[in-house]
This record gives sequence, C-alpha cells and structure tokens, in this order.
Amino acid sequence: MSRTIYLSPYDVLRVKNRPNIIDAFIPANVVVEILGSAWFSHLVDVNAEDFVERNLSLLWHERTHVRQQKRWGTAYWYWKYITSKSFRLEAEAEAYAVELLYIPEVYQEASIEMFASWLAGSMYSHCAKNELWAEASLRSWINKVKDRRVH
Ligand SMILES: [Zn+2]
Repeated sequence: MSRTIYLSPYDVLRVKNRPNIIDAFIPANVVVEILGSAWFSHLVDVNAEDFVERNLSLLWHERTHVRQQKRWGTAYWYWKYITSKSFRLEAEAEAYAVELLYIPEVYQEASIEMFASWLAGSMYSHCAKNELWAEASLRSWINKVKDRRVH
C-alpha cells in the first residue's frame, strides 16, 4: 500500500520528548513499551535526513499513542496503561494497527504474527493472554483503522 502522508515537526518532537517525562517515575522493566520508546527517542537521530522515511511506521505507532493521550488525558492514559492489561492491549493493538498501514503488503502477515507474539510476551508484561488473543485484538483494530481518514 502506498499513500502520501504529512508528518509535522511537532509530531516528531512529541515522539522525541515524550519518554523524558516518563523516565522520571516509571520503574525499569515495568512497562517495556515505554522504555522502548525512551530507547527510540534517545538513540535515533530525528534530524537524520531519512529519519521520517525509515521510521514512518514506528512514528505512526507512537503518534497513535499521542492521540490516545489527547483522547484520555495524558496522566490518565499512563496510569491505565501501567495498571490495566486490557487497556494496554487495546492501546497497543490500535497503535500496531495504524503502524501496519505503513508496512508493505508483503510483510503484513509476518508483522501481525510478530506483534501478536510481543503483545502476549514479556515485552508488554503479557497484556494479551496468548498470541491468538493478541492477534484477534490486532485484526479487530486493523478493520477499525482501515477506514479512518485520521489515524
Ligand atoms: Zn506502543
């Protein structure tokens, strides 16, 4: 699938700055997703010429969390994300569904399998009971985000 998208510098900065706040109060290994974001923001050079192009799907994943935080309120979103497995699964399944829109067709099924195994594994503190559960949630979100004009 090929589509033209516009990612503003503001979006990139939000993605870059978000984890710095988080680092202050989240204990290590509690929510690896957040630490993963921190790693992402600290190590990846957002000024690299091809940054947006190379990381488009990941940026749209993180941007989806930013949108979720606007929807729920940032503090509430983090609280629910940390304390509720079902909330975490929904948040991640939506983000991965959006991410999949920017992953080439040929990698779609392999990516879905990989994301499902992550969501059922220690990376997300087992927010899905098993891989089938995670995959069902992913596929349900894939259908929901496909027709949305704004992700
Ligand atoms: Zn995520």
